[in-house]
Amino acid sequence: MPSAHPYLMLNYMGRSRDIMTLAHELGHGVHQRLAAAQGPILSNTPLTPAETASVFGEMLTFRSLLDKTTDPKQRFALLSSKVEDMLNTVVRQIAFYTFERRVHTARRQGELRTEEINQIWLDVQAESLGEAIISNEGYDIFWAYIPHFIHSPFYVYAYAFGDCLVNSLYAQYEKANEGFAERYFELLKAGGSKHHSELLAPFGLDAKDPKFWSLGLSMIEGLIDELEATNP
Ligand SMILES: [Zn+2]
Repeated sequence: MPSAHPYLMLNYMGRSRDIMTLAHELGHGVHQRLAAAQGPILSNTPLTPAETASVFGEMLTFRSLLDKTTDPKQRFALLSSKVEDMLNTVVRQIAFYTFERRVHTARRQGELRTEEINQIWLDVQAESLGEAIISNEGYDIFWAYIPHFIHSPFYVYAYAFGDCLVNSLYAQYEKANEGFAERYFELLKAGGSKHHSELLAPFGLDAKDPKFWSLGLSMIEGLIDELEATNP
């Protein structure tokens, strides 16, 4: 409820992954507080901007950590874990989404046996991961460990959407656009009261434009280039 102050309950061992998770969840907390004035019906966002504040918080924290790190080995570790995270957030979640679409489409023809769901899972994973990755025995049932498939079907696309959206937003932020922070706070304060097209217009961004997504994906590409150029 927007009237209640949010709390975070996390495992924290001081590792860089824990710091990124803390930044992520704090982003949700900040978003919730800023949108609280919209009231209980409009403060919650739809899926599209649901992961904006969290992923943006991660990106700011990552850049700050990377800037402070001079040791090449540590930079390599930070960059590779960020690239892995981004691939998980975008490529892997899109594979999850593709899996859901195929399962739901097949379900229209009748009930599915576990073996059929397993096969769809293996097919989609093989397409997504490519030939270099071989699935171990028992991987066929791994779809069952993802709660989103049961509790919030198709939610997973919000991660990929959020990551690409934040990459595009971050690119704007890096250009040090005058008034970026104010516009960003307004976006968060809107909660679920506006469509994403309205939320993004003040930043000159349009999610219907393929260039918007290319910009987001080029950030991942840039980090991979940076990683390849780092010699630990
Ligand atoms: Zn989140």
